[in-house]
Amino acid sequence: MLITDSLLLDYKRCSRRAFLNLHGDPTQQDQERDFLDRLRQENKRHIASVLDTYYPHYERLPFSQSSWQEKAQATEVLMQQGVDCIYKGILWVDDQCSNSIEWRENSPRILPFGYDYLGKPHLLIKQPGQSKFGDWFYYPISIHLGRKAKPEYKLVATFYAQLLAIIQESTPPIAELIIRPLKHSSVDIVQWLPKLQLILEECVTILETADEPDVFIARQRCNLCRWYSYCHAIAQSQQHLSLVPGVTPSRYQSLQEIGILTTDSLAKANLDSIKELMGTELAEKLQQQAHSLVHNHPLARPQSQYNLPEILSPRRIELYFDIEAEPERNVDYLLGVVVVDRLTQTQIFYPFLAETPEEEGVIWQQFLELVNTYDHAPIFHFSDYEKDTIKRLGKLYKTPDPQIQHLLSRLIDLHHCVITSVILPVENYSLKSLANWLGFHWRDAGISGDQCVCWYDQWLTTGDRSCLSSILRYNEDDCLATLHLKNWLLEFFSKIEFSS
Ligand code: SF4
Repeated sequence: MLITDSLLLDYKRCSRRAFLNLHGDPTQQDQERDFLDRLRQENKRHIASVLDTYYPHYERLPFSQSSWQEKAQATEVLMQQGVDCIYKGILWVDDQCSNSIEWRENSPRILPFGYDYLGKPHLLIKQPGQSKFGDWFYYPISIHLGRKAKPEYKLVATFYAQLLAIIQESTPPIAELIIRPLKHSSVDIVQWLPKLQLILEECVTILETADEPDVFIARQRCNLCRWYSYCHAIAQSQQHLSLVPGVTPSRYQSLQEIGILTTDSLAKANLDSIKELMGTELAEKLQQQAHSLVHNHPLARPQSQYNLPEILSPRRIELYFDIEAEPERNVDYLLGVVVVDRLTQTQIFYPFLAETPEEEGVIWQQFLELVNTYDHAPIFHFSDYEKDTIKRLGKLYKTPDPQIQHLLSRLIDLHHCVITSVILPVENYSLKSLANWLGFHWRDAGISGDQCVCWYDQWLTTGDRSCLSSILRYNEDDCLATLHLKNWLLEFFSKIEFSS
């Protein structure tokens, strides 16, 4: 079996993903999302800017090799020659790789025997010291798009250091990460080698068995995974606990230990035994959530901090606000508002769209003009992003502070209202999930905010106006979904108030 850096990275993120990539049926995979390709392009730009800034004089392999082994040999030739910086070198270690007895005695390899290993570090940097090549050695640099030196990055960097150690017969004392924006971070090899050894042993054992590792749906981790539909269907058929909001991997393990394996068993379990594990508040919350899912009905939270019938009571004019942003360019390019007039029974969508990022200031002024026209109308939105953006744009375009404070005081965050006041039979509390349960459907099914990021990018690079139309439709539907949610919340809490 060939153990590669990307297999290891996948394994660290999700052992099941590594297993399925190796043994799964590729026809079960979802189509790749456009956003993944966009991330790859961003990564290429990031790598290019690292090279320009720090390593403009790198060497790369001559183009004559085709197999990994040939590329690895060419890399070793460059290392032997002592070039300062090798870009896209290949590190290959197999069972035939034999080191000198002296090196083996001093720093034995930690890679399990019986496998081939392949690493593709972005850079190999020459340093003074000792190796089998002479009075120099190399250490690896990996370049990542993330803004934090994540454990999986450190693990893979240590893997490169171990491959290098075997190839050059000298363990590099460090490995380096370069994350965004052009930030260096060192990896402590001594600390990470035992972890790498443990994970590799576990990884090869799991990958060699015939059984798929357990499914565990975690929104952030599974979001862009191409096995999502496959895994989600299995999780649903098993009533898997990871589909209960609030059940994290460690809570899942604790629940398993007391025999709670499904949503149904969580709903029916003895509450005291769950309380013993995780405290009263959390135990009650998880069990109520399981109840709601099993019986497919909403439950009011007992001690909501809001008086929702009052906060959500209908006004003549109400505004529903949603933003589309492009994080890479740091621009909020669409400020969408649906104005609902309950007297005339109209709802009009106002999309303030920056066709170029430079127009952000213009659309901000247009947005202010509209919201100032309805000076006393509440502005409903979903999540913190709208509040944070108003603060950011106010500061950037020097809007007087009293105006910003007044605007902020009109905001009503329905996400916060929901999570503190009601339990719904949903797998997560995103707008999409909530509104879908309430019967609202986006005109373009299966689209998410990250697709809008790709469309905006496509519009800027190709000038295709159909991309803008798709974004506007999506944003308007987000505003309307927020309206739908608000109407439902009002009705639900008014009924409770009426009956009590
Ligand atoms: S969907 Fe989630 S659980 Fe399934 S393989 Fe991907 S990351 Fe793992």
